[in-house]
Amino acid sequence: MIGNSRSFVVTSHHNPDGDAIGSVLALTLILEKMGKEAIAMIPNDYPAFLKWMPGNSKIMIFKQNEEKARDIISSADLIFCLDYSALNRTGDMEETIQKAGAKKILIDHHLEPALTDFDFHLSVIRTSSTSELLYRFIEGCSWLDHVDKDIATSLFVGIMTDTGSFSFSCNFPETFLITASLIRTGIIPDQIHRLVYDTYSENRLRLLGYCLSDKLTILPEFSTAYVSLSRDELERFHHQVGDTEGIVNYALSIDSIKIAVLLTERKDRIRLSFRSKGDLSVNSLARDHFNGGGHKNAAGGSSFVSMEDTIIKLKEVLEQYKDEINRSSF
Ligand code: 5GP
Ligand code: MN
Repeated sequence: MIGNSRSFVVTSHHNPDGDAIGSVLALTLILEKMGKEAIAMIPNDYPAFLKWMPGNSKIMIFKQNEEKARDIISSADLIFCLDYSALNRTGDMEETIQKAGAKKILIDHHLEPALTDFDFHLSVIRTSSTSELLYRFIEGCSWLDHVDKDIATSLFVGIMTDTGSFSFSCNFPETFLITASLIRTGIIPDQIHRLVYDTYSENRLRLLGYCLSDKLTILPEFSTAYVSLSRDELERFHHQVGDTEGIVNYALSIDSIKIAVLLTERKDRIRLSFRSKGDLSVNSLARDHFNGGGHKNAAGGSSFVSMEDTIIKLKEVLEQYKDEINRSSF
């Protein structure tokens, strides 16, 4: 099917992260190398710390050129759906992808995929990242010869960011074997790490400092820490896309904390970002109570009431999970 198709659109989820951008770029570049017409398409803008990646200029942002983007999606032969488990994760692109005549191929590692949204699927939960899974897909298609430094860089960024620099979701040897193969192409991991993680703006670092000194709230009875940020606070630090990435992990790094939550006020909602340690899952918490989902230890969701009421609800929900939280070990 891939051999017979000419035009491909490679998509990922709303608010794309390193794994989304990494996997989209890697697949787009490899398809191009095989002489295919491939467009990388994401719903909305992504953080500046991912904009140095090889092939970055090829990425089309649906929201910035909707009419053209709709045409491209509608006329594609094949649509790849990377790093999301249901079409409703593609924001404004959802309807256009849904209506497109193209076959849709899912490659993803999230829990509970909506398989009926897709024609074919490679959905593996026990893997570090979509980028790792994509490597296995590339291997299965006998395309490994096409994996050059640029493609390896993209896949490395995906694996590195989705494992928090190889600190979680990387308990399988395959992750390291695949990473080793990527490094053998000649990429320089410490340089890539620097490009992603050591590129804070002054405002972003000061926002982090403010969160840690003024906004970190501990709920000892639930072994939970949370940080909430209003729009006013975000504006005070001239917030840019991606500036709040990673803040939630600092809250989780406290020894007694098992769940960390970052709440950020957006135009029409409160976004919640959940993290947990060990066998304690935040997926059902996000899915059943905050219109979201994700992985066992990293999930996200939305709330459509005020920040104050969202925090009240969060505490009520945590009360329901209290026994589970107390029982869990890490
Ligand atoms: P983050 O907290 O970094 O935004 O997201 C953590 C994980 O949860 C990511 O893998 C992301 O794809 C997933 N996630 C975030 N928000 C949502 C959501 O609203 N719905 C679902 N199903 N998954 C989400
Ligand atoms: Mn991912």
